[in-house]
Amino acid sequence: MNMPIPSQAYDAIVIGGGIAGTSIIKSLKNNNLSNFLVIDSGSSPAQGTSGHDGALCHPYVGRGASRLQRLSMIAFNEAKQVWAKHWTGKGVLHLARNAENHDKSLMSERLLSQGFSFDNAQVVSADEAKVLCGVSLAGTFFPEGGWVNLKKICEDLFSDLTNQQTMMRCTVAKIAYRDKHWIVYDEQQKIIGVTPRLFLANGLGVKALAACAGIDLPLKPVRGQLSTFRFKKESSWAKCRPKAAISGKAYCLPPIEMSDGSFQWMVGSSYDENEDDLSIWDQSHQENLSLIQEMLETECDPSEIEPADAFVGIRCVASDRLPIMGPVKGHPGLYILTSLGSRGVMWSALAHQMFTEHLAEEMRHSAFLDTRFFAGARLAGLGLSEDLVSALLPARFLAGTSNSKPILPSG
Ligand SMILES: Cc1cc2nc3c(=O)[nH]c(=O)nc-3n(C[C@H](O)[C@H](O)[C@H](O)COP(=O)(O)OP(=O)(O)OC[C@H]3O[C@@H](n4cnc5c(N)ncnc54)[C@H](O)[C@@H]3O)c2cc1C
Repeated sequence: MNMPIPSQAYDAIVIGGGIAGTSIIKSLKNNNLSNFLVIDSGSSPAQGTSGHDGALCHPYVGRGASRLQRLSMIAFNEAKQVWAKHWTGKGVLHLARNAENHDKSLMSERLLSQGFSFDNAQVVSADEAKVLCGVSLAGTFFPEGGWVNLKKICEDLFSDLTNQQTMMRCTVAKIAYRDKHWIVYDEQQKIIGVTPRLFLANGLGVKALAACAGIDLPLKPVRGQLSTFRFKKESSWAKCRPKAAISGKAYCLPPIEMSDGSFQWMVGSSYDENEDDLSIWDQSHQENLSLIQEMLETECDPSEIEPADAFVGIRCVASDRLPIMGPVKGHPGLYILTSLGSRGVMWSALAHQMFTEHLAEEMRHSAFLDTRFFAGARLAGLGLSEDLVSALLPARFLAGTSNSKPILPSG
């Protein structure tokens, strides 16, 4: 390696300017690390999967206290704090899978046994849901649930960075480790920067860069389309429109009334595995519409609603459907944050808190602690146990097999 020129030497380099990269930059700043560089192929931040403004967030509800359920409860509480400035909405109604068998007392007992309280998760009957959310459908109401504008979070953070801290329109083609430093190369094989701390936060692109370090991660693309529909105020849709965000087989935000009296309604999201086509599909609009009709049990006239816009993104999903976050065992100074799947809001917030703690611990010891992810006493006190942290670590894939049981997504 040629000696790096001073402008190429950084305390940290982050690859990826979406919500994953943004949450890491926040962690670096919390540790007073300002000599960092964030690199992204896009012309501005959040041009990839984080480029949308309607990302819903509420804890996962399952039958038992699975790892996903336990992690999502902790991550949801972190997300409310970390993204508080960008949080919108006053509650999310998560619909019962089987409304006919929706036993209120049984469900309440189950939620209490999973660590919820009546303040943060309320089992509601169809009549109660009508008053709260405008739809006569039983489910669990999360009063603190809401949604965030992922793009705005990223843009706001980048607007505070200096020109020396960002490099846009630059694709990282290769990484290598030499003399206790990570070297980052562009597509012309030129060195972009050299650093002791390298964060891979570039979605599906992590697979190719991790492979440069001999790490094989089981990541795959899942295409998603979030439709914005339009309907008139005198249409049947206006009469049965929800007043809150609703989730289930699909999800929707409450429709927004426009200045001309029509409504715009965000409904998502299609889920096409192993697809990475970013064009808008009519078929996905149809799919979103049928799912939401089925979910809300409406008989509104489909001819009175039309697609107005769409966001298409490619989710990055690991084979066990959990996020991948933390230091990489055996690779000092290398960290990964990817595979946020359909839960970018909460996993990025949890990662931000964990990286803040981990970096502080490393700096206290002046060492890279790659065999563990130090999440700190506060998160441990909130239930982030060793087994949950292990379920997140890249190390779960390093031996060639996952130590995580596959968990299927809820929607
Ligand atoms: C339709 C849809 C709806 C969704 N709804 C929700 C929701 O309701 N709630 C929720 O929590 N989540 C939702 N998600 C998921 C959420 O959007 C993602 O989990 C999140 O945005 C992923 O963020 P990221 O930073 O990992 O990836 P990205 O935002 O894709 O960022 C990766 C960045 O890396 C850059 N990059 C890639 N490779 C390189 C390279 N080699 N060199 C330089 N730069 C590179 C890219 O340009 C990109 O900017 C949804 C996703 C989709 C598609």
